[in-house]
Amino acid sequence: MNGWTLVYTDYRPDEERLRESLCTLGNGYFATRGAAPEATASVHHYPGTYLAGCYDRLTDRVDGREIENESLVNLPNWLLLRFRIAAGDWFSIDEAEILSYRQELHMRHGELRRRLRFRDGEGRETTLEERRLVHMQLPHCAALQVCLTAENWAGKLEVQSFLDGDVRNEGVPRYRRLGGDHLEVLSGDSVGSETCVLSTRTRGSRIEIAQAARVRIHVNAAASAHDLAFLRVDNKVGHAATLELQAGDRVRIEKAVALYTSRDHAIHEPAEEARQLARALPDYDQLAQRQRLVWHQLWQRFELDTTQAHDALENHTECILRLHIFHLLQTASLATMDLDAGIPARGLHGEAYRGHVFWDELFIFPLFNLRMPEITRALLQYRYRRLDAARLSARREGFRGAMYPWQSGSSGREESQRLHLNPRSGRWIEDNTHLQRHVNAAIAYNVWQYFEATRDDEFLAFYGAEMMLEIARFWGSLAHFNPHRQRYEIHGVMGPDEYHDAYPGAAGGGINNNAYTNLMAVWVLRRTLELRAVLPAQRWAELIALIGIDDDELARWNDVCSRMFVPFHDGTIISQFEGYEALQELDWEALRQRHGDIARLDRILEAAGDSPNRYKASKQADVLMLFYLFSAEELCELLEGLGYAFDPATIPDNVSYYLQRTSHGSTLSRVVHSWVLARSDRDAAWSVFRDALESDVGDVQGGTTEEGIHVGAMAGTVDLMQRCFTGIETRAGVLWFNPRLPSPLRCLRLQLHYCGFVVDVEITHRRLRLSVGADAGRPLRIGVNGVVEAVDSDSVREFVLDDR
Ligand code: BGC
Repeated sequence: MNGWTLVYTDYRPDEERLRESLCTLGNGYFATRGAAPEATASVHHYPGTYLAGCYDRLTDRVDGREIENESLVNLPNWLLLRFRIAAGDWFSIDEAEILSYRQELHMRHGELRRRLRFRDGEGRETTLEERRLVHMQLPHCAALQVCLTAENWAGKLEVQSFLDGDVRNEGVPRYRRLGGDHLEVLSGDSVGSETCVLSTRTRGSRIEIAQAARVRIHVNAAASAHDLAFLRVDNKVGHAATLELQAGDRVRIEKAVALYTSRDHAIHEPAEEARQLARALPDYDQLAQRQRLVWHQLWQRFELDTTQAHDALENHTECILRLHIFHLLQTASLATMDLDAGIPARGLHGEAYRGHVFWDELFIFPLFNLRMPEITRALLQYRYRRLDAARLSARREGFRGAMYPWQSGSSGREESQRLHLNPRSGRWIEDNTHLQRHVNAAIAYNVWQYFEATRDDEFLAFYGAEMMLEIARFWGSLAHFNPHRQRYEIHGVMGPDEYHDAYPGAAGGGINNNAYTNLMAVWVLRRTLELRAVLPAQRWAELIALIGIDDDELARWNDVCSRMFVPFHDGTIISQFEGYEALQELDWEALRQRHGDIARLDRILEAAGDSPNRYKASKQADVLMLFYLFSAEELCELLEGLGYAFDPATIPDNVSYYLQRTSHGSTLSRVVHSWVLARSDRDAAWSVFRDALESDVGDVQGGTTEEGIHVGAMAGTVDLMQRCFTGIETRAGVLWFNPRLPSPLRCLRLQLHYCGFVVDVEITHRRLRLSVGADAGRPLRIGVNGVVEAVDSDSVREFVLDDR
């Protein structure tokens, strides 16, 4: 990592798929993995192009059962461009003798470059230079430029460029026994002398996808392009050219690509649009210039500036943070604002989790909320459009309100797999993760957080409040009253920790009274009841009448808010769920010695005929999520409202109790652990933060990043900088600051967009400096050192910090 660039100085076949994920280019509408243009899917290469929201379903038979899976579809590979010299073999990087190699991901400009020199069996040396982009301002456009220089030879060069429809979903080895054939090719045609169009359609969802490519080949500085022949080979369409080169000749091949689908707005028909755009696009350099401009603007909003504050070591940290922001913006961005798409947990970068949308939004939206909240709004609309599906799911399970799915795709029905494969044992296992009802709390929490950061009354009144009311209604009906305890309880769920889907010995069925779920249910009910005072009276009355909520139901919600059960053990430890304390302690050391990496303890134990359900062992933060989402005061208030005296001084005990019992089998886990340590042990928080940063660049899970990045962990690490170390909170119309910078971080600068204000923030260990822009034209209410005050727009204010 070097400043703004991710650099690879050699070619390593075994790492290539990982690099393809990390070098993916995208614009929130579609993304393409950083695969070599000449490569098709093989052991070391996996070209993949994914369009936000483009799903398809296939049915398979597994263990005698029919199962249906919905996947984000791998679209035709627009990159494919191959060449050969003197009718020899087509160039393959895996076969060539490589003399030099350099691949660079330019995050500042949104461009991927590769430069290599190679020698073939006849001693011919050739230089290959490649640049590519997926355009951030023109969401339907991508472009590739390849230059070949005949260093020491003369002879025939053949070039073929394709739109390759011979693709399947086969990027994740675990899914390969299941179907992956989502596309049928409808047509492949040429248009004029330099453009071709490939039309395909997904088999079940019948989404039409059209790609058009315009190819131009120039030799040396020749103004006119070389003649091309149209080619159609199986499901590939494209162009071919044969050139006679002299030693020293340089061939420039430019491929401008347009992509449209039948999901797009404001089009007549995808193929027609793609054809027109491909023909009209300017050349590569002009596209790259506009790409620079739009990325420059994005970076102004999203940068985290730590440049004043680091040595060489921290340069690495800063670069990874940029990489995380870069990939986040490639997954959801300007183009997403007008789409019906959620944010897949693994980005548009690979096929893991089949492109589904999880609760990971909880870790992602806070970053957008304070930078470009319009993106959060668009992603929340994805949920709003699926409110009816959530209502139906609740009804089917005998509940009221709306029950959003744990994994969401096209229609908003539950997409979690029913069986999953343990690659360690080769067994298909019942998958109960859909019992993670807490995703509903996350959605309501996200609506509220967006509102706190924007005060977007219109969104709350017409979309957000309805979601909150229906989710509150769901929690109200899921909780039942236990007369013996005189408390409400929630049974048969899973918490965020996926190692516990049942009590020991039971086959599924979930666990009871997961503390996180119960407290989040209470939080949702309380907030929703408060909406009455926040919404215009007319809107509240309309919504209550439309949904059919009566006084009895509101009274019940109030009752749940004061009598929900929360389990504790050892006096002060919040139990992950009821009965947790009776589970066995795990011999972590023995397992580590036997297996090395034990992050996926569940797979190790299952393969040994055992189950994590028997142990006090978590895959990821569960109880600790409470300290991640709530300040100590908020949590105490929540518990006190339920009649539990909770002493904030016991928070470190809770943190340390669960820290010791977590394997970090999810990349989200370290984000939470760093956060909850930030107030009590800054050094430890920094060290866990640094580990969290390595999740994808270091592929800490040993092979998962090549199947897609971990967007939640990427956004979560940036948000640790943005909100945790700065102590930024948005509450009741006040922007709060309570910085606690870790010691290696001496100065942090960032720009916040909050409720119409643009605020440039600079924080050191001693000082907080705020420059409030002129746009809002009213004072900004801020809270520093516990005191609220108003800062005029177009002014600068400094505070001395007490950084103990
Ligand atoms: C984690 C979930 C997460 C999902 C998608 C799983 O491994 O346990 O919490 O939502 O990955 O990122």
